[in-house]
Amino acid sequence: MKYVDEFRDPQKAEALIWQIEKLCHLLETPIKIMEVCGSHTHAIFKYGIEEILPKAIELIHGPGCPVCVMPKGRLDDAIAISQNPNVIFATFGDAMRVPGSQTTLLQAKTQGADIHTVYSPLDSLKIAKANPDKEVVFFALGFETTAPATALTILEAAAENINNFSVFCNHILVIPALQALLNHPQLQLHAFIGPGHVSTVIGTDPYQLICQQYRKPIVISGFEPLDILQSIWMLLRQLVENRCEVENQYHRLVDKAGNQTAIATMNKVFEVRENFPWRGLGQIPDSGLKIRSEYAQFDAENKFTIPNLLVADHKACQCGNILKGLVKPWECKVFGTACTPETPIGTCMVSSEGACAAYYKYNRLVRTGKNKVTT
Ligand code: SF4
Repeated sequence: MKYVDEFRDPQKAEALIWQIEKLCHLLETPIKIMEVCGSHTHAIFKYGIEEILPKAIELIHGPGCPVCVMPKGRLDDAIAISQNPNVIFATFGDAMRVPGSQTTLLQAKTQGADIHTVYSPLDSLKIAKANPDKEVVFFALGFETTAPATALTILEAAAENINNFSVFCNHILVIPALQALLNHPQLQLHAFIGPGHVSTVIGTDPYQLICQQYRKPIVISGFEPLDILQSIWMLLRQLVENRCEVENQYHRLVDKAGNQTAIATMNKVFEVRENFPWRGLGQIPDSGLKIRSEYAQFDAENKFTIPNLLVADHKACQCGNILKGLVKPWECKVFGTACTPETPIGTCMVSSEGACAAYYKYNRLVRTGKNKVTT
């Protein structure tokens, strides 16, 4: 298949591994590289990339799965809105089983809440048009990748004067999250595999700040095995040559300036929140988006009373440390026993892009010798 097979060529992968090994010999080890994006984590496990890399390289799984970083308090707020008898609540499917402090959206649905899973925010607008006597609320999640579609839906609702539609906005921003990670004293990282999807929107320019402020090389990467291997090779080459730059391996989709139309749409509808709570990372300044006052009638936080509480994570759950790259999923005491994709305790096990779910699904525990899962 064009644009797939050529990025999965085993001989090219072997040649890259050989080049990576050569560069590793020139560096002090271990070399810690964080893949920011949950889709990279998923691809790394799916293709067994950790297992074919030299042992000197440690991949750290970062906070780029938006469902995984959704704090319990915001889930509680979403569930509270969905339980309003006049509300149809529309959400992406992967948010349905994310645990709040007491329950999940799925459990709320079984108890009578009118919750629909949708594939895009525009689907929820269609539901609003078809149900004028109901309030339809879209649960907006995700980084800059998904925020433009939400913004566009709000603009369309405004243009069509649809008054029974609103958005519970939980969009988040990638650069403040990277800064929060890099400010963490325990986190030791040498380089980043930069997120491909977000970068199709924001481009490569915003990462210059990370390079300049923290002296960490970044390579924006695609999601096929050769993309990831080539990105690791490019990062090692920077480290060997003592360079610190933003490089773009994913130039078939990402450019320097990003998608200006998407950025303009996002900026028209959203502004930056002063603070936003992230699971495991706490409050991060300037890391979330909120709906501008011009579109306040589409802001569910204005229309509904929500608990708006900060809720601590489950005592046993290590999601916070996993998202900071401080522990691996198998080091959590409840991994694969009390916490499984069927009975998730933390968000990293719920989302298909979460690190715990990826370890569980692909069973890649060979390096650790702690192969607890028998899927
Ligand atoms: S195994 Fe479950 S409880 Fe432990 S860190 Fe992962 S998601 Fe959290």
